[in-house]
Amino acid sequence: RPRALSGIQPTAGSFHLGNYLGAVRQYVALQETHDAFYMVVDLHAITIPQDPQELRANTRVAVAQLLAAGLDPDRCTLFVQSHVPEHAQLAWVMNCLTGFGEASRMTQFKDKSTKQGADRTTVGLFTYPVLQVADILLYQASQVPVGEDQRQHIELTRDLAERFNSRFGHAFTVPSAHIVKETGKIYDLQDPSIKMSKSASTPKGIISLLDEPKVSAKKIKSAVTDLETVVRFDEESKPGVSNLLTIYATLTGVSIAELERKYEGKGYGALKTDLADVMLDWVAPFRARTQEYLDDPETLDNILAKGAEKARTVAAETLALAYDKVGLLPAK
Ligand code: ATP
Ligand code: MG
Repeated sequence: RPRALSGIQPTAGSFHLGNYLGAVRQYVALQETHDAFYMVVDLHAITIPQDPQELRANTRVAVAQLLAAGLDPDRCTLFVQSHVPEHAQLAWVMNCLTGFGEASRMTQFKDKSTKQGADRTTVGLFTYPVLQVADILLYQASQVPVGEDQRQHIELTRDLAERFNSRFGHAFTVPSAHIVKETGKIYDLQDPSIKMSKSASTPKGIISLLDEPKVSAKKIKSAVTDLETVVRFDEESKPGVSNLLTIYATLTGVSIAELERKYEGKGYGALKTDLADVMLDWVAPFRARTQEYLDDPETLDNILAKGAEKARTVAAETLALAYDKVGLLPAK
């Protein structure tokens, strides 16, 4: 079986709808066809200041949501990034292969550091994409299910894997991004020109999956649309409505063309009311399942312990190979 790997941050506690539709849904699908490794990336989370107690709690919340979304620990390897020290170890090697200019071109760093301000931006945030390179290469992953915003980081991973392989001899599988065209970028409900984001969206712009369904329904009803009243998919001139149609179609399996027909002659109000119901039907059982996992932290921690053990076996082998190729003297 080919390998797949991906990670999600435990920041903010709740996942948002973009995380689910763009990434987690694909995790669930790929566990059927791939030897899949999924992790909660706590080391990535601390590139931006976190409260220690909250971070610890939110890491379990993230794991519970992954299980609630359909990840099955018998079908995939589910673990926490910091439980596998090889990630930080390989990241150092890859840091020493990455050009400063190359890292400076990462647009996500530019966006996040601008938001933080120069004084509060850490070196960790700067090298975050290189840690991500190590995350992927350690597992010899060929597919990396992510949202569109991660495309540039996967390109960097490919470049660095090829650079390492040609300089030191073959050590790494060169991975591909697995991005679903329709849902790779879910937009902020208040500003449909930017992606829905844990760190950048305003509360009204983001659907947090663990929020009270009433709150989410209200946010959908006040989503920014346009001055026309025709329900039509057109990302260029109607980004707000198109975003709602994408969400609706993906959650129900009804095609966008059918939805356009269904709402012909009706306004945005009808579309939003129905979508709010669709969301509720999906979110209510998801929240209940998440809570069940959280009520049993021992089971959850056992799943993570097993996951880390499986992950470490693979990661340690790749790290040893990479260390050897680079010329590090093995310890006796
Ligand atoms: P942050 O803004 O702090 O980076 P985030 O919202 O991007 O947070 P992550 O944990 O960084 O959340 O991302 C987890 C996964 O979700 C990644 O694969 C990412 O590409 C995907 N993703 C994030 N936002 C969206 C979105 N709006 N649409 C589709 N996929 C998304
Ligand atoms: Mg992100």
